[in-house]
Amino acid sequence: MSTVFYSHPDCRAHDMGQGHPDCPQRLDAIHDHLLATGLDIALEFRDAPEATAEQISRAHTSNYVSETQDLLGRLRDEGGTKAMDPDTIACPATLQAALRAAGAAVAATDDVIAGRASNAFCAVRPPGHHATRDQAMGFCFFNNVAVAARHALDVHGLQRVAIIDFDVHHGNGTEDIIAGDERVLMCSFFQHPLYPYSGAVPKGTNMVNVPLEPYTRGPVVRQTIEQMWLPALERFAPQMIFISAGFDAHREDDLGQMGLIEDDYAWITQQLLTVARRHAQGRIVSCLEGGYHLGALARSVAAHLRVLADVA
Ligand SMILES: [Zn+2]
Repeated sequence: MSTVFYSHPDCRAHDMGQGHPDCPQRLDAIHDHLLATGLDIALEFRDAPEATAEQISRAHTSNYVSETQDLLGRLRDEGGTKAMDPDTIACPATLQAALRAAGAAVAATDDVIAGRASNAFCAVRPPGHHATRDQAMGFCFFNNVAVAARHALDVHGLQRVAIIDFDVHHGNGTEDIIAGDERVLMCSFFQHPLYPYSGAVPKGTNMVNVPLEPYTRGPVVRQTIEQMWLPALERFAPQMIFISAGFDAHREDDLGQMGLIEDDYAWITQQLLTVARRHAQGRIVSCLEGGYHLGALARSVAAHLRVLADVA
């Protein structure tokens, strides 16, 4: 069994305008680096299907899903753009991209649970972890990871899943959706204060939120994970692990001021893989969130994938 890599050309077509940090070239940089390093031969590439409204509604209100689909459908049919917030711009290609992004996470979940993959990475845009139950924000429209986690619980009947979020920004949308859902343990760290300026006080007892100061480097992050995440994960014994894999805590990334390097992402991934092998039959689905320095993003994703594919 191999590590499956889900993506789709539609995710590249979503374009929020010149100079926007979440640019289509992010996916090119990841893909080009996989080819250049030969890591592609260790992966199995699959095209992301579109998520259904029913699947997305497991994480969002049905009103939000239908209104967003209507709005994005109008842009697709009639052209134009719409700012959901100052940083989150919908364009004619956004509907397909957002459906593929959530669909990748769902299909990856199906593959891993069915044993068609040992684990999976979804190289998708738009990202998801800022999208709340009923609001698009922070470059995000549908919360891909929350949709997939609920799919594992509600469709496949799993009883306990973990969501890990190592993006430099707090995953406020995921917290909004799953706070109080005791079937889910969410562990995250994030720079604080930083957009979206939440997370310092967790919204539920199923949250392990670790705010970190700007310029925090790898050794402190590793120590934090050992002290805060790993004991909670050990007690919770998740049957599957979902990762909101943002790589903007890299020291070369200008959207945050943290100091992680590729080795830190490899180390974090290894810790999660060890937990997954002990409790969850190795089942991990990881979804791309942030990461805006193209070179650092590509190298960090590769470091993450080398561990997942066991070729580190
Ligand atoms: Zn981020």
